[in-house]
Amino acid sequence: RAKHDGKGSHRFFENAMDAEAQARRAMEVDLHDALRKGELELHFQPLFGLSQNRVTAFEALMRWNHPVRGMVSPIDFIPLAEETGLIIPIGEWALHEACRIATSWGDDIRVAVNVSPVQFRSSTLNSIVFQALARSGLEPQRLELEITESLFIDNVEATLASLHSLKVLGVRVALDDFGTGYSSLSYLRSFPFDKLKIDRSFIVDLLANEGATAIIRAITTLADALGIETTAEGVESSEQLDILRSEGCNQIQGYLFSRPIPAGEVPALLMKLSGDRMAA
Ligand code: C2E
Ligand code: MG
Ligand code: MG
Ligand code: MG
Repeated sequence: RAKHDGKGSHRFFENAMDAEAQARRAMEVDLHDALRKGELELHFQPLFGLSQNRVTAFEALMRWNHPVRGMVSPIDFIPLAEETGLIIPIGEWALHEACRIATSWGDDIRVAVNVSPVQFRSSTLNSIVFQALARSGLEPQRLELEITESLFIDNVEATLASLHSLKVLGVRVALDDFGTGYSSLSYLRSFPFDKLKIDRSFIVDLLANEGATAIIRAITTLADALGIETTAEGVESSEQLDILRSEGCNQIQGYLFSRPIPAGEVPALLMKLSGDRMAA
């Protein structure tokens, strides 16, 4: 801390830190009660299968409806939940809720749930997933867990062991935000991932940058050879869709089809997306 700044700025700095720490602390206290108060909600965004020409899955995305702050983005509260450990009960709730809601959809529609590295490394994940399946009655192959490459930065052996024990339950495992994290591909042959979700940053670049198409092609070629499905995330335009279709991407997720919607709106969306089917 720079003493030569003089007392005034020093004190200002400390007050600013206090204010920030207090704001965080207030949000932490609120988040602690959010579950009990029913402020957390899951919204669902469809994944559209290009060969099936229909919605094949929905991704559950958490929303915090804060009484004062309004809708808080998961980008703002998930990291806080991870730091405080609250992600464990919140993530458990999300798994139960997602499985319960998915049982009201058609048998051919899966549900994808994001699993934080903190949840993944906790010893309880396996039994929580087992419980969510048992209590809801959802067929295990209809549940897809989305994890990120960051799990492979260290503890590769432990990560693979946990993945294999999840696989024993019969659930599917997808690698989320593929291409942005740890760039070694060796883990792709160590575990039979069911899906790669190509990060939105590659999709955004598709029209402006020829290199982006080459990367999509490389990923779909690699995934095909390994028998892994691919989903493109963040697809917003029909031009992007055309490129992804011709590069053999299996599913499309993005605002082009739908934003994440409340569970109650899923049946109407399914009607709409099967009503005006896309020309193959
Ligand atoms: P993610 O798992 O990669 O989810 C995709 C994000 O992209 C979502 O943001 C989604 O709303 C957004 N998105 C989808 N299509 C488009 C598009 O066409 N354009 C743009 N610009 N964005 C699009 P969201 O809902 O804000 O979630 C952000 C992140 O928060 C998620 O990224 C995930 O990492 C995390 N998250 C959300 N829900 C949960 C949860 O239940 N548990 C955990 N652990 N993490 C969650
Ligand atoms: Mg995800
Ligand atoms: Mg993603
Ligand atoms: Mg993402």
